[in-house]
Amino acid sequence: MTHYLFTPPATPLLPVRGNTARFPVRRIFCVGRNYHAHAVEMGKPVDKSTARPFYFTKSPSTLVDSGATVPYPTGTSNYHFEMELVVAIGEAGFRVTESDAQRMIYGYAAGLDMTRRDLQLVARDQGRPWDLGKDFEKSAVCSEIIPIGNLGVLSTGAIALQVNGETKQSADLSQLIWNIPELLVDLTQFYHLEPGDIIYTGTPEGVGAVKTGDHITGQIANVGDVSLHIGAAE
Ligand code: MN
Repeated sequence: MTHYLFTPPATPLLPVRGNTARFPVRRIFCVGRNYHAHAVEMGKPVDKSTARPFYFTKSPSTLVDSGATVPYPTGTSNYHFEMELVVAIGEAGFRVTESDAQRMIYGYAAGLDMTRRDLQLVARDQGRPWDLGKDFEKSAVCSEIIPIGNLGVLSTGAIALQVNGETKQSADLSQLIWNIPELLVDLTQFYHLEPGDIIYTGTPEGVGAVKTGDHITGQIANVGDVSLHIGAAE
């Protein structure tokens, strides 16, 4: 029997609608600049004819259940929301084709890619990794997973976010620059995707800052809702 120096961390788990079994999260991939209007608001427009998608990762330990209250994070004064469709992988794939998307997808979730925007942009503009801006504690908020069922490979559907009830983001999944099959084809040129991997597919325009006391709510048609309360700084 293996003995440990200290208790190994538990595998992060997500609830699954209609199933008592939980979804163990293996890796978190995030797609950058995957809606034109958001890429423009970040000052980095995308020309799909010459560009490829790009990715960053968050540690699975950054996951937070929807509905949680998180402390206003340390080290930032510009803490942003990003509303995103999350794709949960249920079957392995490597160098796949677009027709493999349906079998690889276990389901979907509504997610928030919370961001320390000031730290991210300093890193970006200095040509440094932007982990401090993205891969920080409690930065990956995720709803329960909705099994793919009859949804198929999602290509349309409203995606929206409100802060204290006021709409900040309102778009449609059809506006994704790289759709779900295209992302799976591209990402599996670089990684062996495995069950338990989840992919935040990018945020539409309208990102902005929140402060202590704010309540974020978000919805994706046919998928579900996500919410987050912003607590006091530690
Ligand atoms: Mn994002």
